[in-house]
Amino acid sequence: MNTVYIGLGSNKNNPPAQIKQALTRLRKHPDIHLCACSRWYQSRAITLDDIPQDDYINAVAKLTTQLEPIALLRVLQDIEQQQGRQRLKKWGSRTLDLDILLYNAQVIQTRELIIPHPLLNQRAFVLYPLADIQPDLHIPGQGVLQDLLTQVDSNGLQVIKTNAAINHQ
Ligand code: ADP
Ligand code: MG
Repeated sequence: MNTVYIGLGSNKNNPPAQIKQALTRLRKHPDIHLCACSRWYQSRAITLDDIPQDDYINAVAKLTTQLEPIALLRVLQDIEQQQGRQRLKKWGSRTLDLDILLYNAQVIQTRELIIPHPLLNQRAFVLYPLADIQPDLHIPGQGVLQDLLTQVDSNGLQVIKTNAAINHQ
């Protein structure tokens, strides 16, 4: 069985409802066991232009699965599509973004899949929720999670939902 951490993000069409729906879909998937979910966080959008975007809601989920990384990516992309994801521009607003952050301790670098997620160590909205679930994590090629947390700009990150920290292990 493989242990995987997934990042969930939304800043469009009722983000809390999008995150909730995505967690429900993951929980119901026959090949995925949802072990835990972090608290939910709100943060300012990171954009590539000066056009303002709504704030993001982010969370991290821990799962176990028999699915290989690329098969899991397909499942996640399918859920993004079901929730109306449109890819209009890089880092544009989105109803749902599902990223594979970590897959066991594997390092994968293909055209379609980079694991650990390459910007993980620069993103407070990923590092803080990861630490909610697994504070002693080591990120292959990037270092110890606790060290990364001390180096990251929190970018206005706020906890918005604490009772979402479910743990089914
Ligand atoms: P981003 O998440 O960077 O804002 P997208 O969600 O639009 O961008 O994804 C763009 C591409 O990123 C996908 O087509 C996918 O092949 C690729 N990708 C690379 N590594 C990962 C990963 N670890 N998790 C999810 N997608 C990834
Ligand atoms: Mg993505």
